[in-house]
Amino acid sequence: MMGGAQPLAGRHALVTGGGRGIGAAIARQLLALGAAVTITGRDRTRLEASASAMGCQAVAVDVTDSAAIQNGFAQAAQALGPIAILVNNAGIAKAAPFARTDLGLWDDILRTDLTGAFLCTQAALPDMLKAGWGRVVNVASTAGLTGMAYCAAYCAAKHGLIGLTRALAVELASKPVTVNAVCPGYTETDIVEETVTNIVAKTGRSREEALAGLVAANPQKRLIKPEEVAEAVAWLCLPGSAAITGQSIAVAGGELMVG
Ligand code: NDP
Repeated sequence: MMGGAQPLAGRHALVTGGGRGIGAAIARQLLALGAAVTITGRDRTRLEASASAMGCQAVAVDVTDSAAIQNGFAQAAQALGPIAILVNNAGIAKAAPFARTDLGLWDDILRTDLTGAFLCTQAALPDMLKAGWGRVVNVASTAGLTGMAYCAAYCAAKHGLIGLTRALAVELASKPVTVNAVCPGYTETDIVEETVTNIVAKTGRSREEALAGLVAANPQKRLIKPEEVAEAVAWLCLPGSAAITGQSIAVAGGELMVG
């Protein structure tokens, strides 16, 4: 991204799960492009610490709670103006063989990773339509584009998120609001740290072996950096990206080649 330019000046961007990991990198990138940014999440203490380090606003919102979304988004808009950019990034990833995927695990993941994005988009979209400009970017996953073992619920949620992206993009095509998804491969955040810990506990492999197994899926043989995902998200938010809608862009070192 070009240094110094502020193409998002005057736009309010809200990043769900913006207190750490990929969401924090997205928030920093949007701030660098001049946007006023709100980060949301459940852990208020960590969120406020991140927000004060970054120089943005923090509002505690659990994306599984529709009343909290309505209140939190209204509070965010009151301070920084109507939301023009929504990044649906909050998500959880829990692996389990299908036979051990109980309804509780299924519901937790679907409610957070799919229904959460649905509810947040419903809360933010009316102001984008009213203002005549908007960007919705959903952080899906390569697991939204292809099947992966031991994560049926996560794959289903992320495939669903890509379906939502495509359907809404078509529905809004005559309006100045775009809807896209980015699909990271394994990225250096707490999610991968927990995945490695889980593999070590369940298989007795070493940390290095577990990590090598994850990295093997990426032809570049490395983990993606949160900042690399953030660059793709920020590009989709630029004024010049108005013709790009309904896309699911893999940020995964060539792990998947689609389209
Ligand atoms: P982290 O675990 O580092 O961050 C997850 C974020 O989501 C946190 O900020 C967390 O905040 C927030 N969150 C989780 N549940 C809720 C909830 N119910 N309500 C509000 N916020 C919530 O993960 P990543 O940064 O890695 O993940 C970000 C996104 O990227 C996710 O959607 C994930 O599926 C996706 N992704 C990640 C990949 C990876 O390898 N890391 C690969 C592909 C996709 P808090 O705990 O404060 O609520």
